[in-house]
Amino acid sequence: MEITDLSVYGLSHTLPDGEGLGDARSFGHDRATTLLRLEADDGTVGWGEAFAPGPIVEATVDELFREDVVGMDPFDVESLATRSYTNPYHFGGSVFVQSVVSAVDVACWDIRGKAVGRPVHRLLGGTECEELLPYASTMYYTERDRPIEEPIEAAVDAGFEAAKIKIGADPDTDVERVRTARQILGDDARLMVDVNGNLRPDQALQLARDIEQFDITWMEEPVPPENESGYRELKQKVDVPLAAGEAHYGRFAFKRLIDDRLVDVVQPNLARCGGLSEARRIADLASTENVAVRPHIWNSAVGLAAAVQFAASVADYPHTRNVPDPMMVEFDRSENPLRDDILETPFDPSGGTLAVPQEPGLGITVDEDALERYSDA
Ligand SMILES: [Mg+2]
Repeated sequence: MEITDLSVYGLSHTLPDGEGLGDARSFGHDRATTLLRLEADDGTVGWGEAFAPGPIVEATVDELFREDVVGMDPFDVESLATRSYTNPYHFGGSVFVQSVVSAVDVACWDIRGKAVGRPVHRLLGGTECEELLPYASTMYYTERDRPIEEPIEAAVDAGFEAAKIKIGADPDTDVERVRTARQILGDDARLMVDVNGNLRPDQALQLARDIEQFDITWMEEPVPPENESGYRELKQKVDVPLAAGEAHYGRFAFKRLIDDRLVDVVQPNLARCGGLSEARRIADLASTENVAVRPHIWNSAVGLAAAVQFAASVADYPHTRNVPDPMMVEFDRSENPLRDDILETPFDPSGGTLAVPQEPGLGITVDEDALERYSDA
């Protein structure tokens, strides 16, 4: 089997004026990502996503990858991540190179699954897995004043039984946001908080102590992702579990998070971390320290599909009171047609479960006409 064609699709969607969604650092108005389509000599098509701007992916593909990938056997892809660190030697580990590696890798796994007639989570060694627990990413900061309880009430009404909310922008309102979310979710639901790296360690320490009473499943990126000493300090002083990984990529960065016990949960993004091959290596590293793996998802339907297949392949651990903690997948509640409008059968988290596609490969069919609507070319 041989890859004969490689195409890049830069996609974007802009939110209406005044409808920007914020985290602790800023408001975002655009959803943008890049898809990569591979075609094999027997006509099999595979899709991957690079969580990076279209023109950068296009240039990186043309300069560094096209010659290697076209003509490659998709079953050889696992050597790509290794080669990418050494060739190009001095920047192979950079974020844009690793984002492209992610897209090529996932597209090759999609083709491999289709070639052997099995869903990717089974090829990765996972047991049968029909569904996962989706959690709502919600309570974003909004540009217009809105009641803070509205989005979390809507998520509960839609059937979500777990949620992650944005905090960290304003110490005067953080605790109230968490208290509101906990009240609306109820005592048994899992509640996570996301600071998006906006705080200093001393501020994050105070906030963690203030919200500990609300039974927080994890506190995500309390300090900037690069601030390893900050994570180390927090880990020693707070009881709230810590999470990071959406801004990390490659096994070397995750190895530091895991070996140095900086976090309790690692969150590789399948469109940035190096793809399914690298995510599996990261999961293996995490398992050696009983660190949980929960993929970060702020992607199109392709990145979501890769994350779902990966999540479905991860063994059940850690355990609490003899029961495995549920594997959760992130489902953001913002307007995202790049997720909801480009598949023939979109993912549907309503009812509190997310079905794991059982069709071969990623188990999705991309509507290529829909891609034209969101092309940023
Ligand atoms: Mg986050």
